[in-house]
Amino acid sequence: MKFVTYINNSEESVGIAIEERVILLNEILKFIGEDNVSSMTELIEKFDENLIEKIEKAIKDNDFNYALLNSVKLLAPIPNPKRNIFCLGKNYVEHAKEIKLTKISDTGIPEVPIYFTKIASPAIASGEPIKFSNDVTTQVDYEVELAIIIGKGGINIKPENAEKHIFGYTIINDVSARDLQGKHIQWFKGKSLDTFCPMGPCIVHKNEIHFPVELNIKCSISGELRQNSNTKNLIFNIPYIISDLSKGLTLKPGDIISTGTPSGVGMGFQPPKVLKNGDLVECYIEKMGNLVNRVIII
Ligand code: MG
Repeated sequence: MKFVTYINNSEESVGIAIEERVILLNEILKFIGEDNVSSMTELIEKFDENLIEKIEKAIKDNDFNYALLNSVKLLAPIPNPKRNIFCLGKNYVEHAKEIKLTKISDTGIPEVPIYFTKIASPAIASGEPIKFSNDVTTQVDYEVELAIIIGKGGINIKPENAEKHIFGYTIINDVSARDLQGKHIQWFKGKSLDTFCPMGPCIVHKNEIHFPVELNIKCSISGELRQNSNTKNLIFNIPYIISDLSKGLTLKPGDIISTGTPSGVGMGFQPPKVLKNGDLVECYIEKMGNLVNRVIII
């Protein structure tokens, strides 16, 4: 199943996207005798496998009202995460190599995961603009990434149990101001400017994604393919990340872990290809669709 967050009757609502249609989740929950949810985070917090099965069965056996997906305003699937996005730096070999050539980082291929966090307040939806001023930054870059949505919290999670803690997956564009990353040494600020966390278009429930997760991942800028890889090329894979990150750190339902970007970022080119006003950034991951955002320099 694909879950979306959208505006229904002026309210943030969770829906289930089926091809070009979206069904209001609360209508299905009411039908099966469950309490309403007011957000994706609330759904994830009450998440259990039985509920997913009941929802799937209800949809199969009944005709619920629906809206057309292209007629509703989509939000990011989790527009206001309770915590920052956990991110991995340099988690694809080819990307680690291209970044080594820049001034941003010189440590090459990491031996342990590099973690940082990024503010998404709010995360922006597919279709919303990435906006920034050249007074703040002149070197803005894109990074398509597979993001894991934690379903069941836990601490010291063993790699073999990692999948049990996952709710689903989405796409994140880890938009990055390279000049700020370099200037402030730490990556946090350069990755946390307003609108720098496009997310979506949906959360794909893990039942639709074969484990281990091996999905094609791409990013195009105004039609030019720049990033093109597969999530099987992660240096630290999903079980390793969940196990390692949760050592002594409790992961909570609704936490988001962005697993790093493949090679082909703008700063990897000579000369660098920074985002320009009007550029169309299209992030794609197999089975998840496209996360598309226009760049507007204000
Ligand atoms: Mg990144």
